[in-house]
Amino acid sequence: MIEKIVIANRGEIALRILRACREMGIKTVAVHSDADRDLKHVRLADESVCIGPAASADSYLNVPALISAAEVTDATAIHPGYGFLSENADFAERVEDSGFIFIGPTADLIRMMGDKITAIEAMKAAGVPTVPGSNGPLDDDKERTVKMAREIGYPVIIKAAGGGGGRGMRVVHSEAALLNAISLTQAEAGAAFGNPVVYMEKFLENPRHVEFQVLADTHGNAIHLGERDCSMQRRHQKVVEEAPAPGITAEQRQRIGERCAAACREIGYRGAGTFEFLYENGEFYFIEMNTRLQVEHPVTEMTTGVDLVKEQIRIAAGEPLSYKQKDIQLRGHAIECRINAENPDNFMPCPGTIEQVHLAGGPGIRIDSHIYNGYKVPPYYDSMIGKIIAHGETRDCAMARMRTALSEMVIDGIQTNIPLQARIMHDAAFAAGGVNIHYLEKKLGL
Ligand code: ADP
Repeated sequence: MIEKIVIANRGEIALRILRACREMGIKTVAVHSDADRDLKHVRLADESVCIGPAASADSYLNVPALISAAEVTDATAIHPGYGFLSENADFAERVEDSGFIFIGPTADLIRMMGDKITAIEAMKAAGVPTVPGSNGPLDDDKERTVKMAREIGYPVIIKAAGGGGGRGMRVVHSEAALLNAISLTQAEAGAAFGNPVVYMEKFLENPRHVEFQVLADTHGNAIHLGERDCSMQRRHQKVVEEAPAPGITAEQRQRIGERCAAACREIGYRGAGTFEFLYENGEFYFIEMNTRLQVEHPVTEMTTGVDLVKEQIRIAAGEPLSYKQKDIQLRGHAIECRINAENPDNFMPCPGTIEQVHLAGGPGIRIDSHIYNGYKVPPYYDSMIGKIIAHGETRDCAMARMRTALSEMVIDGIQTNIPLQARIMHDAAFAAGGVNIHYLEKKLGL
């Protein structure tokens, strides 16, 4: 049994994890930087430990400080949340070597999925549809590379095996530009990720981003919880997410979802995970797997009724999944708007003191946020200060509820992207459903 969990994160997700722990009767340890003493979950946690100065590198990414926080509080497990160390295999290893439970997959699996080439190989072997491409690293055989690109067909994209966060990628439109693009990407990848290995994929021109949520336990059970559409993006950052994805049929959901669950069983996956796909002309193309909880997990929780954080904790405690595939029934539609402390015109972060907050409410509205009157949004971290999730029987109902919720929200003292979210919720193409990943930037004239 897990008795006490260190929450190795901050902000809304730390509060989300704390709530799950409290429901389960598990004690919590909040770890925080010097700049985060006043975070809501720090005040609510059973214990708190300051792990370093404001800079993430010295606090939330400080592995020895996190391990010693677990040691001094006699904790059982560490939940990494998302971002920070959540997909760091060395951290997962250090946690387990120090005698604590890492709430997530094993270090080996994080490592396998962190290298996009091994991830794609594993998924291909498990029958998950992937993007046509080099199926492995590009080597020095220039003739072979040129021939391969011709067979795949231009445009192609050169991607770093160790890339992440939308970096380490280059689109190539013609043979003349190919070899130079490869050497440039190799050099950049070597400098940025310490791994110069690159591979080639067909570049899909107008895809949607559709991802499947999975849960797998340590008893060989794995299920999928349907998909989310996260095509509303700006600079590869998701802005709005929804479940289910508009226009995806029950047959597609079952076919691809079951492939993902089967892949989990095959690779011995453990915990919550997300299979990210590009979706174009009715076909799914796997691009990567995230081995952690996602920001957008609430839309899946609202449509399935499953508490993903509680399941993560149960799995980490060695318990079997609480659900079988047949128990997962989708109900209605859920939309999430991320609320960022930023200038709505130029998207620059806008930290500062929140003078007044009035959160929205009403049927089908869930707000995951750590903000309160007088809370100071620090300048050191991600600008997201919360998420509004609207659930309704239909997509139209969820949208109407979201529009109402956005109009009720009052956050005085700082600027937020609420006006942008309201624009999106009134946008005719978004209302029709199924826009591609370029739509938002085009709408904004970027
Ligand atoms: P990262 O780990 O950096 O997020 P991904 O492999 O998930 O990298 O790709 C990030 C984004 O880059 C995708 O969401 C998509 O917008 C774009 N992208 C990646 N591969 C392709 C491809 N083959 N065709 C078109 N766009 C792609």
